[in-house]
Amino acid sequence: MTTSAIAQAPRLEILLRKDLDTIPQLQKLSADQRIDMRAVSAVLPFRVNRYVVDELIDWDRIPDDPIYQLTFPQPGMLADADLAHMRDLVVRNVPKAELEAAARQIQLGMNPHPAGQMELNVPHLDDGTPLQGMQHKYRETTLFFPGSGQTCHTYCTYCFRWAQFVGIDELKFANNQATGLADYLRNHKEVNSVLFTGGDPMVMKTSVLRRYIEPLLAPDLDHVNSIRIGTKAPAYWPFRFTSDADADDLLRLFEEVRASGRHLAVMAHYSHPHELEPDAAQLAVRRMTSAGAVVRCQAPLIRHVNDSADAWRRLWRRQVLLGAVPYYMFVERDTGPKGYFEVPLARAFEIFTDAYRSVSGLARTVRGPSMSATPGKVLVDGITDVRGEKVFVLKMLQGRDPEWVNQIFFAKYDPKATWLDDLQPAFGESEFFFDTTIAKMKQEHLLPEWGTETHIKKSVTDSGFVDWE
Ligand SMILES: *Cc1c(COP(=O)(O)O)cnc(C)c1O
Repeated sequence: MTTSAIAQAPRLEILLRKDLDTIPQLQKLSADQRIDMRAVSAVLPFRVNRYVVDELIDWDRIPDDPIYQLTFPQPGMLADADLAHMRDLVVRNVPKAELEAAARQIQLGMNPHPAGQMELNVPHLDDGTPLQGMQHKYRETTLFFPGSGQTCHTYCTYCFRWAQFVGIDELKFANNQATGLADYLRNHKEVNSVLFTGGDPMVMKTSVLRRYIEPLLAPDLDHVNSIRIGTKAPAYWPFRFTSDADADDLLRLFEEVRASGRHLAVMAHYSHPHELEPDAAQLAVRRMTSAGAVVRCQAPLIRHVNDSADAWRRLWRRQVLLGAVPYYMFVERDTGPKGYFEVPLARAFEIFTDAYRSVSGLARTVRGPSMSATPGKVLVDGITDVRGEKVFVLKMLQGRDPEWVNQIFFAKYDPKATWLDDLQPAFGESEFFFDTTIAKMKQEHLLPEWGTETHIKKSVTDSGFVDWE
């Protein structure tokens, strides 16, 4: 990206499934490959912008190019039979309703709601009203999903919130009430961090984002000492921070948060070092940090995209060079096209360790590989032998019960396991230390009620639909 291109303030141009034929670079594909793409994108969300297509993908390297794998539908994302069925419908050019009905059948078979997100984490008012658009799983941090931030500048092919974008969840998380959040926080002094997430909150105009953030700067909310914004915009649309019409206003909003005495963290989702190559991407980081934001970086480890120590080494080095802070390496969640993207935990640990060993302590602020699972965030902290038994050393970084945090536990080594559910306790034990509590929470529909003695209470909304993993 040249400096002049930045000066010209590029306009965000979004491309959807219906625009596939207008992407000149795709003409390189065979007719068969184009049918694959139409088949897969009928089932899984597809949305890309022209900057990603023109600046981030190396079209001489497709289909192996990591950003192409990250953003364009791949045939391996569907099971063979599903792909064949969808291809047939595409070739026969069946009516839209028929295509959508077939797609929905496949979507419902892809674990659309992982990790008990729907029912286990949604907080309630005292009268039992669920607060849609919020999650409060860990005591210190409330997640907020602003209603107008529920899309992205480009979709990631492995997105764990994919169900929202194909309409299964009907924006179940979205919240349009800026004041509801402040009211909730007024009654929850245990919360010290609010995390805006999505979709991508940075798709919102600054004026809209301001309506959500400014009420949190009130003096009676001084227990909320950090505000975080989870976003992929620094990678997919860096102009949000440089040349968009309201980019400067956004930085002023960051400065306001800082001036109120609070920490402002941009939780930037960078998947691959290529995303940080363009001048615009580097300028975006410099502008955010100049406005007093701390840019913390996190991403899942994804096969075909960043499953090499070299990719992570270069990613973390570049982040540190730009003044950003490596934060989490996640394990891909057990949803959607998981089979295509998953990396076994043992391999993930090896990639992490290789990369971690080769960077300086300044980049070792990163933690991983970490699973956001039902009991909490579980770190694969080691693989070792204990008296002849090969085990995973696991550590709870965040827990549904705060007492669990920083606890070490052990699982039998299993080279094929890709998620916590695949693991068995080591040393002949019958369960993990959290299993009884989690089972009870599931059985009795217990929800966390932070700020009380027990911080757990019986669910008042017995909706019947509880999605645990
Ligand atoms: C990761 C996560 C957080 C934030 O955890 P930190 O370790 O403080 O970054 C909060 N809520 C949920 C549900 C999360 O998954």
